[in-house]
Amino acid sequence: MPKLTRARREYDCYQCKSIIEKGSMYSKKSISFGSPSKETVENRGGVPTIVVHGFRVTKHICSKCSEKANESEI
Ligand SMILES: [Zn+2]
Repeated sequence: MPKLTRARREYDCYQCKSIIEKGSMYSKKSISFGSPSKETVENRGGVPTIVVHGFRVTKHICSKCSEKANESEI
């Protein structure tokens, strides 16, 4: 069971797009795009630059969806 937090303000559920009302329970889900842990050093005009190949964002999901997400997780 993911950790639920009481909403301090209204949020939109990332999965079902319904409104998470202020005071109701929600959980956070971190979603990654690409490979956030993958970093390579590239030479950009003579300057070594660290390039990150992805990023991570945190989305709000309602308690109903967090239960469903938990079931489908490996
Ligand atoms: Zn939802």
